[in-house]
Amino acid sequence: MNEYMKLPVTEVKGIGDETAKQLEALGIYLVEELIEHFPFRYEDYKLKDLHEVKHDERVTIVGVVQSEPSVRYYGKKKNRLSFRLLVNQLLITVTFFNRAFLKKQLSIGREVTVTGKWDQHRLTITGTECRQGKEERDQTIEPIYSVSGSITSKSLKKFIYQALSQFGEQIPEPLPLHLRERYKLLGKKEAIYRLHFPPNQEAVKQARRRIVYEEFLFFQLKMQAFRKSNREQSVGQSLHISKENITEFIEGLPFPLTSAQKRVVDEISSDLASTYRMNRLLQGDVGSGKTIVAATCMYAVAKAGYQSALMVPTEILAEQHVTSLQQVLEPKGIRVELLSGSIKGKKRKERLKALEAGDIHILVGTHALIQEDVVFHRLGFVITDEQHRFGVEQRRVLRDKGEHVNVLFMTATPIPRTLAISVFGDMDVSIIDEMPAGRKAIETYWAKPDMLERVLSFTEKELTAGRQAYVICPLIEESEKLDVQNAIDVHAILQQHFTGRYSVGLMHGRLHPQEKDAVMEAFSRNDTQILVSTTVVEVGVNVPNATVMIIYDAERFGLAQLHQLRGRVGRGDAQSYCILLADPKSEVGKERMRIMTETNDGFVLSERDLELRGPGDFFGAKQSGLPDFKLADVVHDYRALEVARQDAVKIISLDEFWTAEHYNFLRTFLEEQGVLNGDKLD
Ligand code: ADP
Ligand code: MG
Repeated sequence: MNEYMKLPVTEVKGIGDETAKQLEALGIYLVEELIEHFPFRYEDYKLKDLHEVKHDERVTIVGVVQSEPSVRYYGKKKNRLSFRLLVNQLLITVTFFNRAFLKKQLSIGREVTVTGKWDQHRLTITGTECRQGKEERDQTIEPIYSVSGSITSKSLKKFIYQALSQFGEQIPEPLPLHLRERYKLLGKKEAIYRLHFPPNQEAVKQARRRIVYEEFLFFQLKMQAFRKSNREQSVGQSLHISKENITEFIEGLPFPLTSAQKRVVDEISSDLASTYRMNRLLQGDVGSGKTIVAATCMYAVAKAGYQSALMVPTEILAEQHVTSLQQVLEPKGIRVELLSGSIKGKKRKERLKALEAGDIHILVGTHALIQEDVVFHRLGFVITDEQHRFGVEQRRVLRDKGEHVNVLFMTATPIPRTLAISVFGDMDVSIIDEMPAGRKAIETYWAKPDMLERVLSFTEKELTAGRQAYVICPLIEESEKLDVQNAIDVHAILQQHFTGRYSVGLMHGRLHPQEKDAVMEAFSRNDTQILVSTTVVEVGVNVPNATVMIIYDAERFGLAQLHQLRGRVGRGDAQSYCILLADPKSEVGKERMRIMTETNDGFVLSERDLELRGPGDFFGAKQSGLPDFKLADVVHDYRALEVARQDAVKIISLDEFWTAEHYNFLRTFLEEQGVLNGDKLD
């Protein structure tokens, strides 16, 4: 690495201790970090004709002040200044917030250049900058940096300029020439200069492309190196997985496995039998039958003399898994037990003792599984179901419970294929892309809330035929702010509606665990025919006799969540229905409802959701384990991510020629990341 770049920012002329402190608040300590603190957007100063500007767009215009600016104060610090401006025969209003000081410069008749956001309907510009006279610049776009404290975007730009003039020549070039040529990428130094001092938008685009590729490539190099060393690390824990056992177990099931399920069982069991540690992601749409795959593999692990742990996000799901696993596994002499927050005192002690003695083969539970006093006898296999609900840290702790334990993450959250493979690049990915035979596609309808009567009479027909229904509401109690139906109210209404004919259960997160159990059990036994619930039933709950899913205020849920909820029905042979009660106001909202009625394929849905929602919250929290990229965005730049992944695979498997210099660079990088110890790469 380049020594100069690692110097503290105080080495830059003009940056003293005081400024350095303020830069720290931006996460900038080193010269390198200052130089790579890129603008988050660019202000476009090209003069435009207002007729060509779209609503809400940023614009820079020149005009003549027509009215004395008026200033209104709100409290001590806030104020609003506005005046009339004549721009090409068009009289518009310009407003500035908290810039009362501009008043002095804005006398009637003055020519000014204003930059801001254009409101087409009100003929108003909300300004961000105001300059005297007509200003046309050579450089028409201006970088805007994220700043804090007393450091302004302008002063930051000055510091970066100074840093570049002192150290710019020493910016290293981590990408080998052949890669830069292959993708026509700028050199790193040039890209950095252009991002800070952009001649035009096109230059920014090219510079960004270069940095994004580099960020992704090094991210993927790290992932692929991890994967490789993980695979090559002999963990000395190759489980004796017997194919005969597995075949015999599968033949004893009440239904044949789909070929996708069989393939995935094969993939997992050969991981288990091999000497490397499994680190696998299993994706399968709701209802694709992941549980039985898990059961088959855990059976084989138990037969090989090891224990398994199955971790799930909710107690309801844990209990349900225990019941269904016991059904298929206990006749085979496999002991499956539950460990959850509701198991306390003596019972808990006994269970832990049995676990430590190796008498329990499979332990199922929530995060209670990762508490310190939970000790396994010989843990060989850890599965987390619906893994997106767990943080990276929790997953790590669980894995560390056993030495070099094999880990399988199961998720029904469909992640667009390219993203899944790229983002989970350090993992192997298995996909169940086939539904069990005889499943009928769920019919989905979108109804306006005023059609409730019809929806209920439709539901009643199903109930009369002996079926059951779920009714989902977004919140537990009435909230005046959010005008949403609440489970408690809906429960009362439905109870009255169906009184004397059907009984209605109520489930929500504020019930005690025992109450939840009772409610769930009543519904699975068909003692209650309708279950009103919040989203606690979202993941995994399995009552095959339920054929109707009604979702109140469906527009409040994300597509992935709606799909999960819908997956609670259609789990048996009968035709099932999902009814979305929604009255979305926006076009996007309406489109989302339409998409739900058009497809049952979780992967198609996730692609569409990604398009509609755009980048940002696709992965939700920081749980995905993605680093903070400086410029790259996994959603927006997913193509580059995939290209980088393919390149990284080749590079790590040494399929590609690198010069000694770049090879050393790569080795140093991987060592710094803790992936390589000394000479592992070759
Ligand atoms: P998910 O993948 O959403 O976790 P489950 O494992 O809960 O799905 O399976 C959904 C339902 O499908 C369960 O009732 C299960 O018994 C049943 N099932 C699983 N595999 C098959 C199969 N190959 N044929 C028929 N039914 C199956
Ligand atoms: Mg499941």
